[in-house]
Amino acid sequence: MNITMIGSGYVGLVSGACFADFGHVVTCVDSDASKIERLLRGEIPIYEPGLDDLVASNVRQKRLFFTTDLAPAVKGADAVFIAVGTPSRRGDGHADLSYVFAAAETIGKALDGYTVIVDKSTVPVGTGDEVERIIREANPNADFSVVSNPEFLREGAAIEDFKRPDRVVLGVEDERSKAVMAEIYRPLSLNAPPLVFVNRRTSELIKYAANAFLATKITFINEVADLCEKVGANVQDVSRGIGLDGRIGSKFLHAGPGYGGSCFPKDTLALLKTGQDYSAPLRIVETVVAVNDARKRAMARKVIAALDGSVRGKKIALLGLAFKPNTDDMRDAPSLAIVASLVGDGAKVHAYDPEATSQARPLMPEVVFHEDAYAPIEGADALVIVTEWDAFRALDLEKVKSLLKTPIIVDLRNIYGVDEVRKHGITYVSVGRA
Ligand code: NAD
Repeated sequence: MNITMIGSGYVGLVSGACFADFGHVVTCVDSDASKIERLLRGEIPIYEPGLDDLVASNVRQKRLFFTTDLAPAVKGADAVFIAVGTPSRRGDGHADLSYVFAAAETIGKALDGYTVIVDKSTVPVGTGDEVERIIREANPNADFSVVSNPEFLREGAAIEDFKRPDRVVLGVEDERSKAVMAEIYRPLSLNAPPLVFVNRRTSELIKYAANAFLATKITFINEVADLCEKVGANVQDVSRGIGLDGRIGSKFLHAGPGYGGSCFPKDTLALLKTGQDYSAPLRIVETVVAVNDARKRAMARKVIAALDGSVRGKKIALLGLAFKPNTDDMRDAPSLAIVASLVGDGAKVHAYDPEATSQARPLMPEVVFHEDAYAPIEGADALVIVTEWDAFRALDLEKVKSLLKTPIIVDLRNIYGVDEVRKHGITYVSVGRA
């Protein structure tokens, strides 16, 4: 199959490279010329484990191409995927669909022969209808179908998730496009993931319902963690105790500084907006959003409390800035709110992240960035672990203690055992473990 991928970001580039690896011929398009120039030079513009090798091998085998020129890439394609960003619209939280609609219009003008337009971006219910209308208006004679195929990959494990998904959701309105989508995903059938064919609106809603549910699970355990601290219980044991119940499941039950990232914050807001628009409010999700917002600020207060109520003039070392490990993505990372509060209260923040420094630097200009995990700790009044990169899981705690001015660790990801840290004479504050 000839596939065109519009948008070569975290989703488009990974999906495009994986489709090429399945044997399809894929052209990845991006309007950002600098991104395409880097890809043409063999550089990967984002950090995603394994992506460099996957891209290089498929480029070498002439199955993966890059261009800024959308129109020629659309002509002759069996399927054109839209994988552009859908950030929150300022003001009302609705998904900003301007990139999707702009892509649809350009696709419409370039269409040539039967083509399936596949919406892989996360878009509110009904967007497929609108994409169809835009293409029809741009090109009244075009022969096409519009399909919804939301993406569920996780940054940091994106290739594995794409190649071995729990399910592939496909929202189709006709048999012709269903056959094309089944053919595109046929190479996955060795791994036997279910292809879930539903109607287009259902498919669009599945994506938002999934993300809102996961955000709810995280927020639930975070509130349970607060209660654990008050009653002398241990949230990690509570998570295990409930997660072993097959009806609950153990994933997304790790207490921490609140969810962030490029999807949950914007997708929960967009779902709320859809609920309001259709007079079917989602009150549980409304509460989740409010609780999570408050939590990010509460994490800075936790640090301040550990330092006897004031960080003014104090040096705080932060380990981990990306919204989760194994990515350089800083979108809506909890570190942003934590740094803003600490700096606002007069702290001098020093930080290290294995991959996110270049994305973080412009977002937190007051922070001093370092090249390794120990450098920011030197002379600091406290160490705060914000993102649980593997490299932070086995720090030399004797060395950490000797570098710190006052031996305080605030671990917002519970990556150490309480006794393990305390035996080094370090004051250890974690989440939900009294
Ligand atoms: P991204 O910002 O990393 O990439 C989007 C790319 O699209 C950018 O490189 C941008 O330059 C390009 N673009 C915008 N308009 C264009 C146009 N008209 N023509 C060509 N290129 C254009 O975004 P992302 O993280 O890959 O997310 C894309 C979509 O996938 C979003 O809707 C997101 O919600 C969804 N999604 C993301 C993830 C994730 O983990 N990042 C997971 C599942 C779903």
